[in-house]
Amino acid sequence: MSISQLAASIRESSTLALNEKARVLRAKGEPVIHLGVGEPKNPAPITALLSSAARLNTGEIKYTPTDGLPSLKKAIVRYMEENYNKAVAPENIIASTGAKQSLYNTLFTIIDPQDEVILLAPHWVSYPEMVKMVHGVPVVVTPEDGTFTPRMEDIEQTVTSYTKAIIVNSPCNPSGAVFSDDFIGEIVEFCEKKGIYLILDDIYHKLVENGIRPAIAYDYTEKDLENSRLIVVNGVSKLYGMTGFRIGWVVGPRKLVEAMAKIQSQITSNPSVISQAAAEGALQGVQSVVENLRLEIQNNRSVMIQELEAFNGVRLIRPQGTFYCLPDFRAYEKDSLKLSNFLLEKALVVTVPGVDFGMEGHLRLSYAGSVKDVTQGIERLKWALDPKAPNEIYIGDRKLVRDWL
Ligand code: PMP
Repeated sequence: MSISQLAASIRESSTLALNEKARVLRAKGEPVIHLGVGEPKNPAPITALLSSAARLNTGEIKYTPTDGLPSLKKAIVRYMEENYNKAVAPENIIASTGAKQSLYNTLFTIIDPQDEVILLAPHWVSYPEMVKMVHGVPVVVTPEDGTFTPRMEDIEQTVTSYTKAIIVNSPCNPSGAVFSDDFIGEIVEFCEKKGIYLILDDIYHKLVENGIRPAIAYDYTEKDLENSRLIVVNGVSKLYGMTGFRIGWVVGPRKLVEAMAKIQSQITSNPSVISQAAAEGALQGVQSVVENLRLEIQNNRSVMIQELEAFNGVRLIRPQGTFYCLPDFRAYEKDSLKLSNFLLEKALVVTVPGVDFGMEGHLRLSYAGSVKDVTQGIERLKWALDPKAPNEIYIGDRKLVRDWL
């Protein structure tokens, strides 16, 4: 079998692979606790369901314009006004099959072979692979001081004449960090000065702690959208618990959006009309669903923080957003893949190895599930790693036997 060099060089999404592993174990009846979850557990908003059902009932399930239904784009225009205080035109928007496709379209549109894209570690697993998929070169900047806060000096030193874009994801998957207003202001100014695209992956922008408001990049530029270098990616997956509908979008200069539409027209034509109707329903419905999710996740977050701060040897930088955190487990094991496999096998707890996010020695833990998942999941990790813990425990009638790492 011959596979292209490029295809052979692309890694599978480790988070999706772990989901599959957990699903298989659960199907066998194993009491798995999934702290690797990348989606909220709440159902889609009723307004989304009704809107997609209404579309289904018409029987008119056809192609839509490549860049999305005009009515969905209108709802996104309103979203931009309400949440970003930014007036944009429908021509600045393209809806796609999840924020994943939005990001891929963006990279496809701006990257020439060998162009470099700067990623800030810890970074989302898919960025490096996506950059490679468009023949670009991912360049990772890692904070030297052990924090999850990128420093402008490090970025400035990494930029070369090949740098085409920087991806900023705040609130950040996997660390839960929210970058400061000062940092966003500086990076907007820097990218403008250097003519580098700034891709802002805002997919978690409302899932933050009380009192925190992630900076809005538009507030730090004098340029109008057409002349700016800002590309904002967003979607309904995380904020509305609609991961399965697969709708994301890009807001950017018209010329770029037009080019993205050309690419999308040759790949998927358009995102599913049923899902677009659902996204429109979510955006136009009562927004308290997002606030309720934020509050629930905030509660889970504080339980997770409390559990981890009481975990001997584990170091945590407190997350301020998303539904993830990235504690440092190096006191127990430096190889995060080995640790994650050990914990799945011995304690039946799914975690995601930090190495996939450019942060070896750490594990990404999700608190998108229930409080019970968080408390019991961390209890099991403590049991598996504490040399003084009993050798056997029972989960119902399933006996877990500890082994050494
Ligand atoms: N960006 C980040 C940072 C994410 O965590 C995710 C989902 N895990 C995405 C983009 C993709 O979202 P979607 O499901 O809409 O494709």
